[in-house]
Amino acid sequence: MDFKNSEKLYKKGLKHLVGAVNSPVRAFASVGGNPLFIKKAKGTVITDVDGNDYIDYVLSYGPMILGHRHKKVEKAIKKALKNGYTFGASTKNEIKLAKIVCDAFPGMDKVRFVNSGTEAVLSALRLARAYTGNDKIIKFAGCYHGHSDALLVAAGSGLVTLSLPGSKGVPEGAVKNTLIANYNDLESVKAHFEKHDDIAGVIIEPIAGNMGVVLPQGNFLKELKAYLETKNALLIVDEVMTGFRSKFGGAQELLGVEADITCLGKVIGGGFPVGAYGARNEIMEMVSPLGAMYQAGTLSGNPIAMAAGIATLTELKKQNPYQKFDEIAARLEQMLREKANKHGVDIVVNRYGSMINPFFKRGVVTNFEEAQESDTKKFAVFFWELVKNGIFLPPSQFEAWFLSSALSEKDLEQTENAIDKAMEAVA
Ligand code: PLP
Repeated sequence: MDFKNSEKLYKKGLKHLVGAVNSPVRAFASVGGNPLFIKKAKGTVITDVDGNDYIDYVLSYGPMILGHRHKKVEKAIKKALKNGYTFGASTKNEIKLAKIVCDAFPGMDKVRFVNSGTEAVLSALRLARAYTGNDKIIKFAGCYHGHSDALLVAAGSGLVTLSLPGSKGVPEGAVKNTLIANYNDLESVKAHFEKHDDIAGVIIEPIAGNMGVVLPQGNFLKELKAYLETKNALLIVDEVMTGFRSKFGGAQELLGVEADITCLGKVIGGGFPVGAYGARNEIMEMVSPLGAMYQAGTLSGNPIAMAAGIATLTELKKQNPYQKFDEIAARLEQMLREKANKHGVDIVVNRYGSMINPFFKRGVVTNFEEAQESDTKKFAVFFWELVKNGIFLPPSQFEAWFLSSALSEKDLEQTENAIDKAMEAVA
């Protein structure tokens, strides 16, 4: 397997694109080597510009839950294209997608579509502040909620991958209302409430997928919600990654918790740029034009994206692949453990639903600190060996691997052989 064309494109790309990419993790900075340039994808297979095929566990960081170019999604996109691309006025499909989304989340009467997860979250924070009249927001160390100023503190995803504590260019004023708590540690949340009486809410990844996969322990989310109710503060559940992925009704359905405000992205756009935030009527009525919380977007509710989203969610509901996801993830966990054992490699495997991720360490990973104890040099060796054996996974220890419903027995057999070789290389 060689990567000559990717190498050529990378060098060419460096001239006019920062790091030859449009999102930092794609630069492969923490695993070293040349980033792959992709030509095409179909089903479970993604193909680079050198013609190498890989089974795809990145899935564009989550959206492609049905696999690439599902025929029903493609048909819907082609049909929508014939009517025009964007109108700056409302369309029937926005109402249709809104109903599918609101029906899936019992705590959501109304939804507003935006263009990315980042936009969904920054709008949700503004809404929580507008509704409560309070300014402070608590976030958890290691959770990533997009790249808006207020949330680029102690964030996972690309920041931890690149060893950045925060981002330059974020003014102190923008983060002065952001308080940091520890994941799975309700006491650290309570400590903030004891000090401050102007907290609007807490934002959380219900299953954290941006510090590797880290699971909420016990009834952490339920207890958090019950505590926030006593404080009249809102629970903002960032389901950009988990929405329609953990279950059709997201991690909230899986964990039996209802958010005050839910943020969505990734899967709801079926591969096109869509984000959303939603809540019950009394909260959403704060949003312009009903209320005075302003938020807008030239391409929001884009017709092509709405068509892709409707087709994806309709097919997903029909397939109901959640049991299958759980079984495949269990098999992957077993493969990772068995092969690590065989070659004497220490690993911790965390998984929930269709998200899974191995850490190269002993013990457990229940928070950001424990996640960062993973041996990222071993991860880099593991990563490249998997790539050379036809497996595409996120080029970072701190990103989740995603499953698609298109995965086949043959894909899993190839994955198992590749994991065996990769663990041998790590040992
Ligand atoms: N929230 C979570 C939980 C995410 O995982 C991400 C992106 O990975 C975001 C928000 C930001 O979404 P986007 O990259 O679409 O802006």
